[in-house]
Amino acid sequence: MPATRPVSGWFAAAGDAMPAPRPPLDGDATVDVCIVGGGYTGLWTAYELRRADPSLDVLVVEREVCGFGASGRNGGWVQGHLAGDPRTWRRRGGPAGAAALERAIGATVDEVGAVVTREGIACDWHAGGTLMVAQTEAEERRLRTLVAGANAHRDLPEGEGWLDAEGLAARVRVRGGRRAWWSPLCARVQPAALARGLAAAVERAGARIVEGTTALELRPAPRGRATAGGRDGHPASVVTDHGTVRARWVVRATEGYTAGLPGSRRALAPIGSTMILTEPLGADRWAAIGWDGAETILDGGLLYHYLQRTADGRIAIGGRGVPYRWGSSSAREDAPPAATIAGIEAGLGRLFGDAVAGVGTAAAWHGVLGVPRDWSPGVSADPATGIAWAGGYVGEGVAASNLAGRTLADLLRGERTALTALPWVVPPGRRPRRWEPEPLRWLGIRGVHAFLGAAQEVERRRGRPTRLSDLALALSGH
Ligand SMILES: Cc1cc2nc3c(=O)[nH]c(=O)nc-3n(C[C@H](O)[C@H](O)[C@H](O)COP(=O)(O)OP(=O)(O)OC[C@H]3O[C@@H](n4cnc5c(N)ncnc54)[C@H](O)[C@@H]3O)c2cc1C
Repeated sequence: MPATRPVSGWFAAAGDAMPAPRPPLDGDATVDVCIVGGGYTGLWTAYELRRADPSLDVLVVEREVCGFGASGRNGGWVQGHLAGDPRTWRRRGGPAGAAALERAIGATVDEVGAVVTREGIACDWHAGGTLMVAQTEAEERRLRTLVAGANAHRDLPEGEGWLDAEGLAARVRVRGGRRAWWSPLCARVQPAALARGLAAAVERAGARIVEGTTALELRPAPRGRATAGGRDGHPASVVTDHGTVRARWVVRATEGYTAGLPGSRRALAPIGSTMILTEPLGADRWAAIGWDGAETILDGGLLYHYLQRTADGRIAIGGRGVPYRWGSSSAREDAPPAATIAGIEAGLGRLFGDAVAGVGTAAAWHGVLGVPRDWSPGVSADPATGIAWAGGYVGEGVAASNLAGRTLADLLRGERTALTALPWVVPPGRRPRRWEPEPLRWLGIRGVHAFLGAAQEVERRRGRPTRLSDLALALSGH
């Protein structure tokens, strides 16, 4: 179904609010690897496969246009951090495996930056690091707990650490800013520009992209016709509305849209997030705010906001919106509700006060994250079925999709490498836990969201930490 309104403010800012799709699939085809989904995951996988082995015939099948999904709608944080509970990685890979995964995702920020430079992708890349800020006593306490938990088993990169109120104000003047944690492991990008530029790089690398083509079903290899590491035959297939593609490997890279594929309804829950892009701020406002380092910023709310200062002097800020739609609907092409937009605008005001009073909102949109039941992303390839997948990044997939793409490129070529040994690689046969059927899924996700919102209200009214906030965090899996 073609989009009826611009995918996101990022597309408009990149100069192409509604890009015309590339031609669709022209009938049945046979390829080495057929990738379903033209977001970062699909594109990085295609790019890395072709760079590793230019003889491979790689086809990306995208229903709309590349970057239509979360990849063209996100906050533009390229963060060297993976969603999921570190305890899960330690359980699966031991302390050494968990540490290796931590290092691998940390190094991915520079890896993405290197490709951006090598391929000349104009996406406003800026490696300014990231700030988590606390404005109240409750937020400071929560931030300290979060940082202590995260740092218990990791080596800190150089320069990462606390900023006191003065140190924070020297970087960015947040109203009542008490303390912040700064990490160098994050860069800012213009997300749609990255997605569109990456798609062009994929084509230059020799892979083919078809758009306006819907995968209706991903069919595993029939029993007994295993791909044996991808070397014999083309037994898996993708049935599309423009023909059937037979392939040695089929890669599912559909993230928040996965529930629309037969047999995958309960694999990943599409959870909504909403963003606004302001009008450009004048020099006076920027002088009041500071933020010359253009670090990405996370506020300390239970229903937090994430921000970036854009290359053209706007602020992009996102937060929770309609959290979940019945039956795992991933449609977010309508305008976000006015109350959600007003809530995000209020979040901006809470951070910068008078300096942003009266700044207009130029664009607002929403999209879906793919959330697995255990909140832990994964990568997997099963030679017995010829089906591979990657995703479930929750809200942290911009860098992680690059690591996934490199990992899939090794797995599909039958290579055993340091990447394929990382503990987020799900061995064939281990089926990730599925979400509950409706109405439990709806009740659970909406209920936790409502509870977080209520706890945040109480916390702000009382001006201090509450038991309710701790309970809300525990319920939401933190
Ligand atoms: C508002 C928002 C803000 C975010 N902010 C950040 C952030 O700042 N930093 C961060 O790290 N992460 C962020 N994320 C998450 C991040 O954007 C995603 O994890 C990442 O883009 C996932 O990429 P993907 O390629 O796996 O999925 P997507 O980009 O969603 O791509 C999936 C693609 O599959 C296509 N597709 C679906 N079904 C079919 C089908 N049947 N046939 C063919 N094609 C199909 C879709 O059209 C889509 O293009 C955010 C997400 C949202 C929604």
